[in-house]
Amino acid sequence: MKSDGAPLQVKATDANQRFSRLLAESEQGRDIVITKRGRPVARLQSIHTAVTDTPIGTPVEGEVPDFEKRTDIIETCRRMNDIGLNQGTSGNASVRVEGGMLITPSGMDYDMMVPADIVKIGITGRLLHGHRRPSSEWHFHCRVMEAMPRAGAILHTHSINATALACLGMGIPSFHYMVGVAGGRDIRCAPYATFGTEELADAVLDALDGRLACLMANHGMLVLGRDISDAFKRAVEVETLAAQYLKALAVGEPNLLSDGEMDVILEKFKTYSGWAQPNK
Ligand SMILES: [Zn+2]
Repeated sequence: MKSDGAPLQVKATDANQRFSRLLAESEQGRDIVITKRGRPVARLQSIHTAVTDTPIGTPVEGEVPDFEKRTDIIETCRRMNDIGLNQGTSGNASVRVEGGMLITPSGMDYDMMVPADIVKIGITGRLLHGHRRPSSEWHFHCRVMEAMPRAGAILHTHSINATALACLGMGIPSFHYMVGVAGGRDIRCAPYATFGTEELADAVLDALDGRLACLMANHGMLVLGRDISDAFKRAVEVETLAAQYLKALAVGEPNLLSDGEMDVILEKFKTYSGWAQPNK
């Protein structure tokens, strides 16, 4: 059905309350764009046209629970791709909600994603709400959320510099004080395990012990946050540190800060920088 005129722009906060009516209007062919802080984050019309993966379960109709958190996830995933922190559909994200977590669907283009495409699963991975398959990495999202109750969000990306280090089996040592944003004296690299497996979840959990970020050998990186914007900020910082460390390594062996100095930094971060501390 063809749309009449310019798209109707609706703020995410308003859309949540009017969702059933907006959905009905979109079915009549009205082009409705959901915006957040003035930026378009989703096009309601595409709920009925954007099918890029095999749907499972029953299509979602009517009000979508946790609508705003879903738009936050989509916006963050798009930002990750916009700034080169992730490529294509390879990364994934989850956010803790009442009764479980919201997680990005498997293999779906972020530009095609609408709030109803985000899947709600329980802490054991059971599908609770949604018509798509959850990210193939749901194992480590569930295990980390379970083990670290203060983690509100998890981001996983194949960002270039962190992944390059991870392909060398290297973590990030205390070459720069900002390593402390990952919650400890260094950022570890989890040993390799096949994507989507419980073995990978085990390896990630070990590498995260006392930390808010880790690299994953021959794969990518993972960060935690109080919420998704905190996780995004940390992902940008970890990728920046990886780039700086690689650049320093290209010339020589970087000087490392002592454990004592890193402990001073970690103490200062608790009260000064606003960076969240590990869930220990
Ligand atoms: Zn991955």
